[in-house]
Amino acid sequence: MSPPVFRFAPSPNGYLHLGHAYSALLNFDLARQSGGTFLLRIEDIDATRCRPAFEAAICEDLAWLGIDWQTPVRRQSEHMDVYRAAIERLDRDGLIYPAFESRAEIALLVAAREAEGPWPRDPDGAPLYPGDGRHETDAARATKRAAGLPFALRLDMAAALGRVGPLAWRENGVGPSGETGAVNAQPEAWGDVVMARKEIPTSYHVSVVVDDALQGVTDVVRGQDLFWATSVHRLLQELLDLPAPRYRHHGLVRDGGGDKLSKSARAPSLRALRAAGTTPAEIRQRVGLPPARA
Ligand code: GLU
Repeated sequence: MSPPVFRFAPSPNGYLHLGHAYSALLNFDLARQSGGTFLLRIEDIDATRCRPAFEAAICEDLAWLGIDWQTPVRRQSEHMDVYRAAIERLDRDGLIYPAFESRAEIALLVAAREAEGPWPRDPDGAPLYPGDGRHETDAARATKRAAGLPFALRLDMAAALGRVGPLAWRENGVGPSGETGAVNAQPEAWGDVVMARKEIPTSYHVSVVVDDALQGVTDVVRGQDLFWATSVHRLLQELLDLPAPRYRHHGLVRDGGGDKLSKSARAPSLRALRAAGTTPAEIRQRVGLPPARA
């Protein structure tokens, strides 16, 4: 069996906090313990939110933690053509369609549906796509595109499910409700999920499965908040003939109040902790990892 390949895949849209430190160190430790490889991947497809200065800070913080990684680092913004090819394949297979509703129009449609009764939400709590872009004629789509309207390319979930059998994944960690071992994927819970947008011609889901396969990632180790996204990833892997890695979702580092740390919630950044005199050894201790191997 070839040595395992792990990766830490942050988005450079803010500074790293303790939750990132835990994920990066866990991946790094697992790679070391198994004689495997640790990769750093920069997930910067959203040019409106990602900044080179944050990428530089990520590298500096990881090096400070004692982590090193293989170079060159894969930066997703440099590989849009590869993701576009994957989306074109889904399109050729008749599995995606453009939907032209704005976010505000979608919110109105959801409100109208909810006035009639409960409307389903995805595992992240967002309402499923309520529109009927799937049934629009090619002529209507062409007119809207020519008019320069923004659009989202959505996966036709019903058609996609018709192409695959039941899907599962190997979970070496644990899901939010204790799921572990062989977990059945439930991609239908996401509805007609967005694969690309006019302004960002790919999505997290597409780029992540394409890159994990291209980089030979054998073990995806990431936060439990992405547990159910794995359902979409398994579906895309199947539709695009990509191998399925093993997954290990880890618990999230919580703040004193029990809330998930996130950049928006003003979690202290690693650099703030460093400036306040915290050492890398103390960071390991705070996130519950054993001391670094000499
Ligand atoms: N880029 C994602 C994030 O920063 C992580 C992707 C993954 O590990 O699959 O949340």
